[in-house]
Amino acid sequence: MMDIRVGLGHDTHRLEEGRPLILGGLTIAHSHGLAGHSDGDIVLHALTDAILGALGAGDIGDLYPDTDVLWQGANSRIFIEGAMARMQGLGFAVVNADIIIHAQNPKLGPSKDLIRNQVARVLGVAPERVNIKAKTGEKVGHIGRMEAMACQAVVLLQKDFVGRDHGA
Ligand code: MG
Repeated sequence: MMDIRVGLGHDTHRLEEGRPLILGGLTIAHSHGLAGHSDGDIVLHALTDAILGALGAGDIGDLYPDTDVLWQGANSRIFIEGAMARMQGLGFAVVNADIIIHAQNPKLGPSKDLIRNQVARVLGVAPERVNIKAKTGEKVGHIGRMEAMACQAVVLLQKDFVGRDHGA
């Protein structure tokens, strides 16, 4: 029997001047970056929650509480690699991921392919299995006023899935 699981993730972080902007593990030149206990990478946080959700394994805060000094300034790859280790331990692999980044500025069009490649590397899949969409906030709300950025991610996992692009 084919065992497939879908998972949904969401994250919002406040923008702060002078912080590095890191999206999907990629550092993007910008005047503002995402504030947070860790490096504020909303893409990897949303993806981590999507993977954990698909596994029925809670959320990123259960595994890595933001009250723990251990995760202060942490590279968010630690979080997603933890979720993926749990996923692999249960015999699942990522089939695909679809991601929406909500950001008024900077325009992410030129960075989308770079973020896609970086996220695909983190997930251990071919770039064709990752999709990045970027939306502005239409200049309204917390996104549009450039107070925050947000990310939504959905992943599909399949047990014993061996894509030609896996295993590298
Ligand atoms: Mg977060």
